[in-house]
Amino acid sequence: MSAASFRNVLVMGAPYSGSTLLGRLLGSHSRIACAGELGLLGQAIANLRPCSCGRLVTDCPFWQKVLPLLPGRTHREHRPADYERVRAALDADVLIDLSKALCWRMVRWPWSPWRNASTGFLYLVRDSRAVIASELRRNRPLSDALHKHFKWAARFERLAESHPERTLVLRYEDLCATPEPELRRICRWIGVAYEPGMQRPQDHEHHFAHSSTSSYARSWSDEVRLDQRWRDELSPAVRMEIERRAEGLRR
Ligand SMILES: [Zn+2]
Repeated sequence: MSAASFRNVLVMGAPYSGSTLLGRLLGSHSRIACAGELGLLGQAIANLRPCSCGRLVTDCPFWQKVLPLLPGRTHREHRPADYERVRAALDADVLIDLSKALCWRMVRWPWSPWRNASTGFLYLVRDSRAVIASELRRNRPLSDALHKHFKWAARFERLAESHPERTLVLRYEDLCATPEPELRRICRWIGVAYEPGMQRPQDHEHHFAHSSTSSYARSWSDEVRLDQRWRDELSPAVRMEIERRAEGLRR
């Protein structure tokens, strides 16, 4: 047994906030497993959405090993004992779940079984302007994108403030700009030793359910460049509106 403080790490945050990258970095640690958005497992299978290795979830050897250990297929059904079985099968001390809004739903009630000492909440914050620009790029109407983003940001903030002892706040921009100190900080919080191999996720095999369909950035400079697209894409009026609404939130 390792001395990890948290056995389960539930990643919270907006869509398009860089959770896939974070999961790939953390999953490259020898004692940490990440299998993507576990809350959307059933949906990934039903919609024939491939695992990040390219195979169908049901054809992927990783999932053939893991699926029998998870009796449920959604966030509502998953229990800490299920994640414990998955960690044991994968020989990992820590399991990361990237389900974000669904992670919030898993822990929102005081009687949630996930409110136990071995579960940590990692709140991934990305610049609201970059998140909204990502939503607009996918043709979501501006008013919807604004409403949804700030409603969820407020929820995540409240949860983080209610559970400071088990929450780590991470800014995506900091992770891209200075990955090593940020990864060291996450490792300290989880209670595992930092490993330099975490910064080379491309050297590791990953099997994420319901994986992002956009192609992965090849390097840190690609990540940072992608992150800056909002500067060209948002009109000054939209940018000002987002900045006004983001005041008082972590951005
Ligand atoms: Zn796979």
